[in-house]
Amino acid sequence: MSAAAPSRTPMVSLQAVDKHFGALHVLQSVDLDVAAGEVVVVIGPSGSGKSTLCRTINRLESVDSGQVLVDGVPVPAEGAALARLRADVGMVFQSFDLFAHKTVLDNLCLAPVMVRGTPKAQARREAMELLERVGIADKAGHLPAQLSGGQQQRAAIARALAMRPKVMLFDEPTSALDPEMVAEVLAVMTSLADEGMTMVVVTHEMGFARRAADRVVFMDAGRIVEVAPPEQFFAGGGSERTRSFLSAVL
Ligand code: ADP
Ligand code: MG
Repeated sequence: MSAAAPSRTPMVSLQAVDKHFGALHVLQSVDLDVAAGEVVVVIGPSGSGKSTLCRTINRLESVDSGQVLVDGVPVPAEGAALARLRADVGMVFQSFDLFAHKTVLDNLCLAPVMVRGTPKAQARREAMELLERVGIADKAGHLPAQLSGGQQQRAAIARALAMRPKVMLFDEPTSALDPEMVAEVLAVMTSLADEGMTMVVVTHEMGFARRAADRVVFMDAGRIVEVAPPEQFFAGGGSERTRSFLSAVL
């Protein structure tokens, strides 16, 4: 018998996480490990706790009990340790939330210079490479309002990547976009997944889930109801609740 493979620390680990908003039990005993390089797509009905789950990973939300670890380290509650954690966990929201009065290039350079202490010239060079990668290098000198929604969201992804995060969280990154712009953002996310980024993605884009997910997580009423690779998940062999959700969205 060969020795067991060395167990690798998950990049993200939620362990028996509970969270209430007042009387609402929004996360109920949630367990989830995301391996380094893994892409986990989280789906489920509105109000099921998807955003809250995501937000516990960079401590935009605290938890009532249980543990959240990033790269083996419990997520700190405050201070310099929390700032360091947030630097390692990139997040992209539904709203593009770029700094409106700064150019796209400055949007990308700000945090690396201020938080990471990256020299300005290096930050600009790296920012230009990232804008190149997401296909908007020609917009570097523009203000966010001069970009389309899809371009703004690609800039927001590039800005998160500029911090060289260990993991990227996406919370419905295409939900606010006009339909013709969804594909360009999903293409950037797909190539990021192909390059081995660890990603947690809340989305209603089932095509993306099929294509890019290593595992699909289905949430309902604060619980993880099902976790499966996409081919198995979409084959429809899961729970009644999952099947009825899928029949509504597919
Ligand atoms: P989802 O992203 O799946 O739509 P959320 O995680 O945003 O779900 O929300 C789960 C539940 O928690 C919803 O009922 C929502 O209204 C509630 N909720 C979310 N954030 C807060 C908050 N800050 N205060 C009170 N209730 C909240
Ligand atoms: Mg949400």
